[in-house]
Amino acid sequence: MSTETQSGSTSPPPSLIVDEEQPELTSSPVGTVFDKPREVTTRTKKSDIPSGLWIRCSSCGEMVTNKELEALLMVCPKCQFHFAVRAVERIAWLADEKSFEETDAGLSPVDPLGFMGVVEYSQKLKSNQKKTGLKDAVITGFGQLHEHKIGLAVMDFGFLGGSMGSVVGEKITRVVEASTQKKLPVIVVSTSGGARMYEGLFSLMQMAKTSAALARHMRTGLPYISVLTNPTMAGVMASFASLGDLIIAEPQAMIGFAGARVIRETTREELPNGFQTAEFLLERGLIDMIVHRKNMKSTLATLLEFIR
Ligand SMILES: [Zn+2]
Repeated sequence: MSTETQSGSTSPPPSLIVDEEQPELTSSPVGTVFDKPREVTTRTKKSDIPSGLWIRCSSCGEMVTNKELEALLMVCPKCQFHFAVRAVERIAWLADEKSFEETDAGLSPVDPLGFMGVVEYSQKLKSNQKKTGLKDAVITGFGQLHEHKIGLAVMDFGFLGGSMGSVVGEKITRVVEASTQKKLPVIVVSTSGGARMYEGLFSLMQMAKTSAALARHMRTGLPYISVLTNPTMAGVMASFASLGDLIIAEPQAMIGFAGARVIRETTREELPNGFQTAEFLLERGLIDMIVHRKNMKSTLATLLEFIR
C-alpha cells in the first residue's frame, strides 16, 4: 500500500469536505491576527455585566475588566484560571509576528448524514461559522516560534465545542504530513469535547487518520508537541492529543476520555479529588509539564531547541 493511500488525506472523499480555496484566504480571521478584533470568548454569563467591560471569573467569582484580562492573556489575576480563547488569539501569542501562513483555510464541512435534531447539523454549521468567522474548529498552518519553523494546528472550542469532524481531522492530518515533508516539528494546541457526533463514523475515522499521520511523522525522528487546554476530552484526547513526544497542559485544564459522571456510573466508584485535571494527570505521568499561558511560547521555544 502506498503512503498516499495509507494517509487517506491526499484525496478526501469529496462528499465530506468542500474545498473553497483561494477566496477564503483573504477573508480568513488569521489575516487579522496581528490587528485582531478584541472579542472576548469566555464561559461566563455576561448578561448582568454592563456593556461587556467586566467579566466574572467562572472559577473564583472575581470581577475583572476585559482590558486587564487581555493584558494577562486571559488569565484571572486572582486565581490564575485560564479562560477559553479563540484560535486566532493563540496563534497571535505563539507565532512570531507576521510569520503565520494559514493552510487549507477553504476546507469547509458538509453534512454527510443529513443529521436531523432539534437543530439540523447544517444549520449548526452555518451559525457556528457566522459566530466564529471560521469554517470549522481548527486553524492550521506554518509559522515561526522564536524563529523555529513549525507546523501548527490550533483548535477553537467556540466552534461546536471544538469537536472533531472530517474537516478538523483532515486539516490536522494535512499539516502533519506537510510538516513531515518539510522536516519541521509539529505543535498541536487542542481543546475539544471529542469527536463530532453529527458526522457519525466519519468523525471517528479522523482518530485513526490523524494518529497514522503522526506515527509516520515521528518515525522520521521529527518532534511532535501536544498542548492540552481546557477542556481536551474524548476522541481528541484518545487520538492526536495524547500522542505527543511531549505533552504539555495549561494549569487546571480538564483532560480525559469519558466524562466523570459516566465513569462514576460505570465503575460505581467514587472518583478521587481533582480527577481529570492537568495536575492530577501530571502526577500520574500522563502529561509531562504544566505550563502557565504566559510562559507557553518561551517554554515551547526551549523545548524545540532541545529536541530538534
Ligand atoms: Zn479567578
